[in-house]
Amino acid sequence: MATLTLRNVKKRFGATEVIHGVDIDVDDGEFIVIVGPSGCGKSTLLRMVAGLETVTSGKIAIDGRRVNDLEPMDRDIAMVFQNYALYPHMSVFDNISYGLKIAKMPKEEIAERVAVAAKMLQLEPYLSRRPRELSGGQRQRVAMGRAIVRKPSVFLFDEPLSNLDAKLRVQMRLEIKALQKDLGITSLYVTHDQVEAMTLADRMIVMNAGVADQIGKPLDVYANPATEFVAGFIGSPA
Ligand code: ADP
Ligand code: MG
Repeated sequence: MATLTLRNVKKRFGATEVIHGVDIDVDDGEFIVIVGPSGCGKSTLLRMVAGLETVTSGKIAIDGRRVNDLEPMDRDIAMVFQNYALYPHMSVFDNISYGLKIAKMPKEEIAERVAVAAKMLQLEPYLSRRPRELSGGQRQRVAMGRAIVRKPSVFLFDEPLSNLDAKLRVQMRLEIKALQKDLGITSLYVTHDQVEAMTLADRMIVMNAGVADQIGKPLDVYANPATEFVAGFIGSPA
């Protein structure tokens, strides 16, 4: 149970401001998808929420509690990346449980959480394999597993399917949707794939050069684009 709030969030790299004051309210259990062209600031925004980038100004809060200055591990947030970022020398079990070990969770509870996640993600037969012995879809599931076992309040996804082929992308899209509904975890999901956004989003955000141009239900955004940019971006080939 959690809400995620961004208030007038800005980011500067050196003298260049790349996020110009973004406001987002993700409701408890809501799945918000961010779309926008390459370089508009999607990853930077997520990385600030995750604590992987500092926030230049503004506030990020979970359940109303400011998290700007917390370390990533203390934020109760899990992030799934495009390149999975798995440890190549570790087994699937160790990859999934790594964060729990770091947090010094008892072995029995780690085993139980990994078992539940592995079942959910159909990874039970592969727990002793190394990442290189897995298919792309299985690796993506391991990355999901690593996020799930932490039982985070907030899920962040940064183009998690963009390295997969088209067929697998469609299948994984459905699996993510089902998982999110089951787990009900408050989520921010970045993609440049508009079909993915339409399928997954409770609400979507269209970003344009560091600004959230429009936030709304996918069909409303399509039917009533708020700016010329949104009108041009939506419905055009990615
Ligand atoms: P997106 O994920 O939407 O493609 P990014 O968030 O990666 O966009 O990048 C937004 C802008 O910030 C880009 O202009 C990019 O070059 C710039 N940027 C991202 N990370 C850094 C960094 N570490 N240092 C300087 N500029 C950066
Ligand atoms: Mg990006």
